[in-house]
Amino acid sequence: MSTPRNNIVVMKFGGTSVEDATAIARTIMIVAGRKQKGLHPVVVVSAMSKVTDALLASAAAAHAGRGDREPALDISARLRVRHIETAARLVSGAALTALHRAIDEHFDALDELLRGIAAVGELTVRTSDLIVSYGERLSSLIIAAAFAEQGFESAHVDARQIIRTDGHYGKAAPNETAIEQALLSKVLPLLEAGIIPVMGGFIGSSPEGETTTLGRGGSDYTAALIGGALHAGAIEIWTDVNGIMTTDPRIVPEALRVKTISFEEAAELAYFGAKVLHPATILPAVQKNIPVLVLNSRNAENEGTRITATPPPCSSPFKSIAAKKKLTIIDIVASRMLLAHGFLKSVFDVFDKHGCAIDMVSTSEVSISVTVDSKEALPAICAELSQIADVKYESNKALICLVGEDIRGICGIAAQVFAAISHVNIRMISQGASEINMSFMINEEDVEEAVRSLHRKFFVAPDPAIFDVQAQAAALQ
Ligand code: ASP
Ligand code: MG
Repeated sequence: MSTPRNNIVVMKFGGTSVEDATAIARTIMIVAGRKQKGLHPVVVVSAMSKVTDALLASAAAAHAGRGDREPALDISARLRVRHIETAARLVSGAALTALHRAIDEHFDALDELLRGIAAVGELTVRTSDLIVSYGERLSSLIIAAAFAEQGFESAHVDARQIIRTDGHYGKAAPNETAIEQALLSKVLPLLEAGIIPVMGGFIGSSPEGETTTLGRGGSDYTAALIGGALHAGAIEIWTDVNGIMTTDPRIVPEALRVKTISFEEAAELAYFGAKVLHPATILPAVQKNIPVLVLNSRNAENEGTRITATPPPCSSPFKSIAAKKKLTIIDIVASRMLLAHGFLKSVFDVFDKHGCAIDMVSTSEVSISVTVDSKEALPAICAELSQIADVKYESNKALICLVGEDIRGICGIAAQVFAAISHVNIRMISQGASEINMSFMINEEDVEEAVRSLHRKFFVAPDPAIFDVQAQAAALQ
């Protein structure tokens, strides 16, 4: 294994951390703070907030336009104005003239692509990747110039020269060996010379040199890949929340910040889309034991949440309670009383065929219940299943999930959980194979009440080593 480079820190700033000139100025200050501490930051940025969605919408509009390209070009024109205005607030003089020209060139090329899609009436994933890549290419260009304007030695690095991937457009897989080589030859020398490399997340290039993306939300993955390959001392994910919380503060205002959490726990929670990380994205960091910090760029003083391979022991069984709404439960009862072998397989094959991911499963001798979070394919799935089983489905369900390493092997934990919500009707229960999560399904309208009761029960005396009890005390005063 490579030797750790503890003074390298990969700092990834999400869309809201670079949403406008004010946010970008804040980001620069945060990076400057790390530099002052003698660290070598590698800066990875997302597209400015909502730009990725807008670019995808422009591609869709060009495609749907049947020759009418105006709606697509309108979206692009608005994005051009936003980027140019942001640049003008951050950069001046000759540097601004050059930056302005570069931004225009990018948008001219984008418009050309949109016109092409509208004319041909075809939109491939490959073209979609190219279009969406402009978000990160533009944000990184502007931010690199903004660093220089503030007197920092910085260099814009085209992420496509570094993040080498396969040719799986829309969700390309990284080639970690090629990435490491590119980093060592193109980025490490910059760091050694005291220069701050600034690059876009999310994008990469195929072996043929075509633009690819790592999939939505992929900038975190970029940061972890870079951190892993350089064997950095830490990876910082800057967002707009104070880190991982014990639950959604909109439901429970006294929710606490979790100071330290394990990779496994964070991965379980990631599924709930709490503004945390996608499990796969942190893998390159896990493998090298590099801590990942989730931090708030609007509240940089806050210590955030540290995600580590092995967290210190915690006296509370759970770290966090998450909820996911808008789920559907499908009950599938085998038509013949005697379960033929292969029944489960035939059921799962139907879901697989329709590309429908199953979240949770529970089975009995004659029936299976599964939950899914998308409704589109349900009629087709149910029609097919009804050839082998009786099928019923119910929507407006919610999944509650309690996560904690310290429930491994504790007796009576399930009894405590269900006692706390004895008034709530529970539809399905599962204790994950990971042993660190307990999940169950309830009706959507019971979510708030259930989460409040559980939070009250399990966070009465939160362990101060793990949870930020000070912030809570301050808020209560
Ligand atoms: N901009 C991309 C997205 O919105 C990637 C990212 O921000 O992580 O999905
Ligand atoms: Mg994100």
